[in-house]
Amino acid sequence: MFVLFSDILPLDENGLSATREFLLKVVEILMEYIKETHDRQAKILEFKHPADMRKQLELDLPDTGVTLQQLVDDCSITLKYQVRTGHPRFFNQLSCGLDLVSMAGEWLTATANTNMFTYEIAPVFILMEHVVLQRMREIIGFTGGDSILAPGGSISNLYAFLAARHKMFPDYKSRGLHSIRGQLVMYTSDQCHYSVKSCAAVCGLGTDNCVEVPSDERGRMIPSELERLILERKSRGHIPFFVNATAGTTVLGAFDPLEPIADICQKYKLWMHVDAAWGGGLLFSRKHRHPRLTGIERADSVTWNPHKLMGTLLQCSTVHFKEDGLLISCNQMSAEYLFMQDKLYDVQYDTGDKVIQCGRHNDIFKLWLQWRAKGTEGFEKLMDRLMELSQYMVRKIKAQPDKYYLILEPEMMNVSFWYVPTRMRSMAHSREREKLLGQITPVLKGRMMQAGTLMVGYQPLDDRPNFFRNIISSAAVTEKDIDFLLAEMDRLGHDL
Ligand SMILES: *Cc1c(COP(=O)(O)O)cnc(C)c1O
Repeated sequence: MFVLFSDILPLDENGLSATREFLLKVVEILMEYIKETHDRQAKILEFKHPADMRKQLELDLPDTGVTLQQLVDDCSITLKYQVRTGHPRFFNQLSCGLDLVSMAGEWLTATANTNMFTYEIAPVFILMEHVVLQRMREIIGFTGGDSILAPGGSISNLYAFLAARHKMFPDYKSRGLHSIRGQLVMYTSDQCHYSVKSCAAVCGLGTDNCVEVPSDERGRMIPSELERLILERKSRGHIPFFVNATAGTTVLGAFDPLEPIADICQKYKLWMHVDAAWGGGLLFSRKHRHPRLTGIERADSVTWNPHKLMGTLLQCSTVHFKEDGLLISCNQMSAEYLFMQDKLYDVQYDTGDKVIQCGRHNDIFKLWLQWRAKGTEGFEKLMDRLMELSQYMVRKIKAQPDKYYLILEPEMMNVSFWYVPTRMRSMAHSREREKLLGQITPVLKGRMMQAGTLMVGYQPLDDRPNFFRNIISSAAVTEKDIDFLLAEMDRLGHDL
């Protein structure tokens, strides 16, 4: 029997069976959650406004500890109100789904509870990082090179920026801002992830010197515009140095044309980074990789988030470099208490000095385990299946043009559309109608959340008012879930 935390390990040295009993109870709750997540009759969420939610939960931190049974109940209620992101009708985010093998990996990771900075304390996991990251670089088309796992694609992009600046201005590391005489300028499309702009803010360029290159009607960077803007800044005496190409934009899922961008980077000697945080998974697919990612091997660096298309549990993000040695040279601080050079083993396996963090979370095991289960072919099948489902959805939308208005032919799993309620169905499509559709979009989203049966994201983009962006990146989704999605939107929204 267990009562208090002091009845289990380590405080009670004889507490092994009580520990097991406690943990199995927690696992039972997790199993219940997993069951509900996969139950199409169960809701995705139990929506409450913050003040009402607060009343449902006992969040206060007590002076005297509560019982272990209370903790089990706390776990249960926590999951009761959690949004089931693995539910087959959750289409809201780029990270959807609950890959159970990856989850098992995450459980193990939590139990091993180690830090990834040195081989000394994470020997097995460090070797896994070597193997997996090398394989990912091979898939990109890099020979050699170096990589690191970072806490998210935004930070991965920051690592690319830092390495690029270090490569061109190695004095910056010690001498700072004054070592660069002139204004550094970076380029990215107007559809890029906002983290690229944030690099400019964080790293001293200023967002005015992160130049937004116009994109075409499908959201892809226009290379001739890139060149024009490079020349324009050069003529002002500025120093263009970094181009970010996005492979799979966050909203539209568009792929910037990598070959022409690589040519321009080569011509003007600029660092080429590819932000494939979202689209990177398609590298597995022989069918869909080209032409979308053709030329990615010409990049100097690539961001690729397994926690998006590949379904690895949050978080798992990687950044890859063509040149080996740059990460360590850029970020090394040689902390004497961690990275002693006279250790028992080959200290090249201490990855901690390659990063601007100190400790790193173990994000590798869940990816390694998942890759072992699926095999590389399994990832390819998953990509092809998700693409097939997205195309199925596009066909269904086109088959009902009175109810759904497809905004563009998607290049990947982002399906962008407006839902058209009954009263607007006879109206010709125009700016005016788009404005009205943009107004009902958030109202319909609100109804979805109240009903708890469906979640699809929306946003405005450029001069387009609010529209739905549906994401299919969960292995749980089937054709019948897409049929449900469209029918449910109509059920909830026809009278708007
Ligand atoms: C999601 C995304 C990011 C940011 O990744 P996080 O892991 O959320 O930090 C960066 N770039 C693109 C294109 C993305 O879609």
